[in-house]
Amino acid sequence: MVVVEPFEIYNVVTGTFRLDGGAMFGVVPKVLWEKAADVDAENRILLATRTLLAVNRRARRVVLVDTGCGTKWSQAAASRFAIRHDREAVSRALADAHLTPADVTDVFVTHLHFDHNGGLTEWDDEPGGPTRLLYPKARHWLHRRQWDHAHDPTPRDRASYLPEDYEALAAAAVINFVEGDEPPPPFEGVRWMLSHGHTPYQLHPLFGGAAGTLLWTGDVIPTVSHLRPAWVMAYDLYPLTTMSEKQEFSRRAIDEGTWLALPHDPAVGAAAIGGSVDRPIVERTVL
Ligand SMILES: [Zn+2]
Repeated sequence: MVVVEPFEIYNVVTGTFRLDGGAMFGVVPKVLWEKAADVDAENRILLATRTLLAVNRRARRVVLVDTGCGTKWSQAAASRFAIRHDREAVSRALADAHLTPADVTDVFVTHLHFDHNGGLTEWDDEPGGPTRLLYPKARHWLHRRQWDHAHDPTPRDRASYLPEDYEALAAAAVINFVEGDEPPPPFEGVRWMLSHGHTPYQLHPLFGGAAGTLLWTGDVIPTVSHLRPAWVMAYDLYPLTTMSEKQEFSRRAIDEGTWLALPHDPAVGAAAIGGSVDRPIVERTVL
């Protein structure tokens, strides 16, 4: 746990999965990335799915950021990505913080890719049928333009969007759409940053204030290896945009001491960064 006033921040590993190493590192050759990753016989690298839990006890606000792959996978699809999802991980983390799932007030949905939202819903009864929300009383924050993109994706990123992960949010009217290019803060202790290189209008919460900050890097910097500007995923729709967004995140970390919380690193939850924006160095880790 790390404190960035007014929040206590916990980092929960909800599961692991594996994606093709080449796709994860774009133009970087395997001779370089294989030293930085756990590669299996199918050329897939190990990734974590992490959920951030942020608690402001004074304001009675309990926030989750992203929820992992979830449980709605067929055996065949789960084995394609070696998906392991621990459906009790968030509940345990909440219990450790003396809270329950019913206490969750807000869920921040960075973007609608399956490895970030599968844990918002479960099959209500049988696979392929209706789904139910795991946090039905929480407000779910999501940028409207990402929602629009998920409903009109390109052939290149269509496979990343699974309607069963998010359509129930609209049906239950629990979405609080974030609007515009400079969205106002949702509430005390959080500001929004936006990115567009990985996918349009990805939402990045920046927690904290004058006493310290922590930024959820989302899929702009999914792991420590991706701190390097040119180590951009082949999944990204606009890789040059991702490069400049990484540099902006690193600049903030280096100049202002902002912790960078990485959603997919198997070993590191959040890192303090030194060096330069072109050669960022992990100086300390927490979470
Ligand atoms: Zn993504």
